[in-house]
Amino acid sequence: MNCVYCESELTVRNGKNRAGGKSVQRYLCKECGRRFNERSGTPMAKLKTPVATITLAMKARSEGLGLRATGRILGVAANSVVNWEKHLSAAISNWSPPAPAEKEITIEGDEVYTRIGENLPPRRSEGWTIHFIERETRYWIEAQAGLKNAQLFKNGVTSAWNWARSSESIRWFTDGERRYGKELWKLASVRLKSSEMPLTYQYRKVWREGVEVAIKVKGSQGKPHIEWLKQEHPFTPISPKSDVHANHNEAQNSSLRRRASGYRRRQNLYAKAVEGLNRALNMQRMIHNWVRPHWGLGKMETPAMAMGYINRPITMLELLSTRSFKCVTP
Ligand SMILES: [Zn+2]
Repeated sequence: MNCVYCESELTVRNGKNRAGGKSVQRYLCKECGRRFNERSGTPMAKLKTPVATITLAMKARSEGLGLRATGRILGVAANSVVNWEKHLSAAISNWSPPAPAEKEITIEGDEVYTRIGENLPPRRSEGWTIHFIERETRYWIEAQAGLKNAQLFKNGVTSAWNWARSSESIRWFTDGERRYGKELWKLASVRLKSSEMPLTYQYRKVWREGVEVAIKVKGSQGKPHIEWLKQEHPFTPISPKSDVHANHNEAQNSSLRRRASGYRRRQNLYAKAVEGLNRALNMQRMIHNWVRPHWGLGKMETPAMAMGYINRPITMLELLSTRSFKCVTP
């Protein structure tokens, strides 16, 4: 096992700890001299409960069971379940590799609204979620809950762009919310040099090469029309309208409501509802991408497999007890 501090391979076994009736292997690093155990750096680190119990709890939660119900079934306090969720959700960056450069990416962005907390009007409620999904692989790129304001769009767009930017071909199709485009323009626009400009092209500031941005605007008779935002790079091919129209986010929204109990209940246990929603989103996203095969893909295929990150589904146990997808042996 590599050292969790310096990644050195020069580690040796160094006794065992007992945690929740199970022994946990300890290691000593010969390179940096520090000690760690097989749970260090994983969501299970510093938790005393047997991993089997936590695995069951997280499985129940990811199928939409409420916090209290999960606690009652497993004979643990609901607060312990919250605590385990915090550990799991904090590991999300280890399970969020960037888009492969050679992959053509189509990003779909959308918003869902859920009532949380008091009876506030939607404008003042933190119950908004914006999320981004890659169309072909169903890979769930990013999701964030909060007030529907400039900050939410800025955060969401920034992390979706950071994920996608290494890809050479990025199609960015969202609903009619213009703030997606506004934030993205700050990140993904370039100024053409005179030498790069074809004679017939009069635009100087354009999207980066390979980036195409379109939104679906609701028309007066409920008929949506497509609008391309800003000018594309002269060498970027533009997709047909029908490609922008296709959108799978409705299915994603209903799955979110079904599987994350926080999206169904108005009263919940979280002291800070938006924190709870974001935690639920992180968990759902990890499970959606890595653990649960997606019905729309091949047999037993997860979005992470379709994206080419790995060649088999990850188990909930691995998600809890592994440091990152890079540590999983195929
Ligand atoms: Zn070390």
